[in-house]
Amino acid sequence: MDKNHLRQRRPILVIYLMALVLVLAACQPAAGPAETGEDVFQVTVSVLPQAYFVERIGGDRVAVNVMVGAGEDAHTYEPKPEQMVALSQSTLFFSIGIEYEAAWLPRFADANPDLVFIDTAAGIDRLEEAFPHTDDDGNDHADDLDPHIWLSPRNGEVIASHIFNALVSARPQDEADFKANYEALLAEMDALDQRITQALSGVSQRKFMVFHPAWGYFARDYGLVQLPIQTGGTDPSASELAALIDQAQEENIRVIFVQPTFSAANARAVAAEIGGEVVTVDPLARDWLENLENVAEAFASALGQ
Ligand code: ZN
Repeated sequence: MDKNHLRQRRPILVIYLMALVLVLAACQPAAGPAETGEDVFQVTVSVLPQAYFVERIGGDRVAVNVMVGAGEDAHTYEPKPEQMVALSQSTLFFSIGIEYEAAWLPRFADANPDLVFIDTAAGIDRLEEAFPHTDDDGNDHADDLDPHIWLSPRNGEVIASHIFNALVSARPQDEADFKANYEALLAEMDALDQRITQALSGVSQRKFMVFHPAWGYFARDYGLVQLPIQTGGTDPSASELAALIDQAQEENIRVIFVQPTFSAANARAVAAEIGGEVVTVDPLARDWLENLENVAEAFASALGQ
C-alpha cells in the first residue's frame, strides 16, 4: 500500500472513528446496571418440564413461554391466543413429540417464518404407547408411540443436550455461561440417575399400577413394569374402575399411582377397594429434577412393602 493510497483513505477512517465514538456513547448505559430486558431472548417449549432445562441452562438470559402448563392435559391441549403472541416473539421453539404438535407445528411455522424449531426428542428411542386405545372420537391410537419421554433421567440428558446446543447457536456470546450451567445440570442428572437406581434396586414388587400411563420410560430405565389403567378419556367408568380393582387384587398391588387431575373421589373409592392407597405423581411438574426424585421415593416406598 503506497503513501498516496493511505492519504486518500484517512478522511474515511476519521469519519468512521467519529461515528464509532458516537455509537459507543449512545450505547453507554446511564448510571447503574444495564437494562436486563434487551439482553433476554424469548423461547417457547411444548411442556412445562422442558422449561426447567431451558431455565437451568439459559439462566436469566432466556424467558420461557410454556404451551402445556401445570394442570393441563398434554393429550388434548390446544394453544391459547396469548401463547400465540408469546410464540411470535420467540427465537426458538422446543418440541417434544406430543399430540398437538403434529397439527400445530406447521401452523406455527407458517405464522412465524423466522422461528427455529428444535426437536428435543431427536435420538430418543420411543416406546410403543403403553395402553393402545380408542378415543371418544373413535380414532384408533393403537400404533401411537409413548409421548412421555421427559419422565426419565436418561432421556432428560438427551433433551438437555438439544436445548444446550440450540441456546449456544442462538447466543454464541453466552456459550461459556450456558456450558457451565449445562455441565452442572448434567452432573445433577447423573447423580439423580444413580440415586434412583439404588433406591429401586432392592424393591420386592417390580409391578406398579398407574391410572395414566406416563411412566413407561421411567419403568424401562429402572427395571419396573407399568400396569396402566386408563383406556382414554379422563375419568374411568364404573366398569373400568371395577376392572382395575380386580387387576390390582390379582397382582397383589396395594398402591395405585394417579396424576393430579385424577378425581379424588375415584381415588378414595379405589384405595378402599384394594385396601391400600392411591398416590399422586405429577408427569408435568415444573421442577423436573425434584419431581423425579419424589416420584422415585414414592415408587420405592410403595414397591418395597
Ligand atoms: Zn400423558
